[in-house]
Amino acid sequence: MPTQLECRQGDIANQPDMDAVVNAANAELRPGGGVAGALHRAAGPELDRACRPLAPIEPGQAVITEAFGLPNRHVIHCLGPVYGRDKPEAELLAACYRNALSLAEQQGISSLAFPALSAGAFGYPLEEATRIALTTVSETLPQCTGIERVRFVLFDAASTEVFQRTL
Ligand code: ADP
Repeated sequence: MPTQLECRQGDIANQPDMDAVVNAANAELRPGGGVAGALHRAAGPELDRACRPLAPIEPGQAVITEAFGLPNRHVIHCLGPVYGRDKPEAELLAACYRNALSLAEQQGISSLAFPALSAGAFGYPLEEATRIALTTVSETLPQCTGIERVRFVLFDAASTEVFQRTL
């Protein structure tokens, strides 16, 4: 069955029909702002405790934890590149999506929601970040067994429009 790929506006911390959600993490896997702040607030302090032994992580890397107070089974934490600093940034951003999908496949996750990694505080221009996200996920999915649904969750109407147009 071909994997369903969709883009919708919403809050990554409120995706109850997904097995796993992806965190736009920082290297230390601490709460912080943006996506990480929203996920840690909803998951509770156990998520922070579970993350500590896994930190620090490198740009492009992905690690997995339980989801605690979130309505999902797992959180996959990815460190996207900081635009203009971590090079080659397009390759590192693509590696985040590939590594997240690979972890999901290993853990038997069948549905997974991503935010727009690196497109907030890390400064990646939205159109470029969108193209890399959608190209990498659609090229990687055919090699992933068991992943049935992938959703991109965008916080505002403007980024949702860019993702939907690019898709
Ligand atoms: P990064 O540090 O990787 O850039 P951010 O969390 O700052 O990550 O932002 C990544 C993207 O996620 C931005 O487009 C931002 O607007 C969006 N975003 C912020 N909060 C949420 C949320 N609760 N749900 C979904 N997307 C969010």
